[in-house]
Formats: sequence, C-alpha cells, structure tokens
Amino acid sequence: MSLTCAYCKEEGHTKFACEKKLKADKARAARMAKRNDDTKSETSEISTAVSSNSARRNTKPQRPQRGVLTESEEREARKIEKKLREIAALEDRLAAGSPLDVLQEKKLDRKLELESSAVMQKVRRGYLRVELAAAQ
Ligand SMILES: [Zn+2]
Repeated sequence: MSLTCAYCKEEGHTKFACEKKLKADKARAARMAKRNDDTKSETSEISTAVSSNSARRNTKPQRPQRGVLTESEEREARKIEKKLREIAALEDRLAAGSPLDVLQEKKLDRKLELESSAVMQKVRRGYLRVELAAAQ
C-alpha cells in the first residue's frame, strides 16, 4: 500500500503532512481572520456613531465622559471660580496697599489649594464645560 496524498495526489506523504495543503489552509485562515477584523471595526464605528448621536439628543445627566465635566463638577468649578475671583479682588486691594483682615488673608492662603483642585485641573486641561439647569 503506497502513501498517496488525498490533497495533491502526490505519493510519499498523506494529506495530513502535505505542505501544499498546509499552505492553503494558512492562507484561508489569514483571509478569514482579516474578514473578521473588518467586520468588527465596521461594527464598532457604527455603534460609536449611534452613541454620540443619542448623547447629543439626551438632555438627562450623562455618565462622566472623557473630556467633559459632569454637572456636579461644573457646579464645583463655578464655586471655585467665584472664590478665585474674590481672591483676585483681594490681591488687587493688597497690591493697591489696602490692609487685609485675617479672614481675607485666609482666603488668599487657599488660592493654590483651589487652583490645584481636581476639577480646576480638568478645566485647565480643556475639559468642556456644561450648561446647568437654571433652578437648583
Ligand atoms: Zn500533498
């Protein structure tokens, strides 16, 4: 009984040891993998487009998105900015030679702390600000 390849009909090896069959299988596997990748990336592009569309329409509070402040962060940022404006006004008075009382000096001491708060760092990094509902 001679050994004949069922794939390429050559003698001396079986189809399980056939180099031609092995090559063909590999090429087919590569083609399949590529097709799967293409399908996957198309699907994710579609789902991204859909989710950003619905985010634009939806006015309810969103999960925190990268690059956008949440409503609570926006509120905190506005509070801090108000304090920083007060501090800036105090600094102006100090620069103009007006004496500050103890409470005002304490406010000045908090400037660095306020500026380095997590939410103000986000604002400086260019996070988008959000609109807040008028009634709180
Ligand atoms: Zn063969």
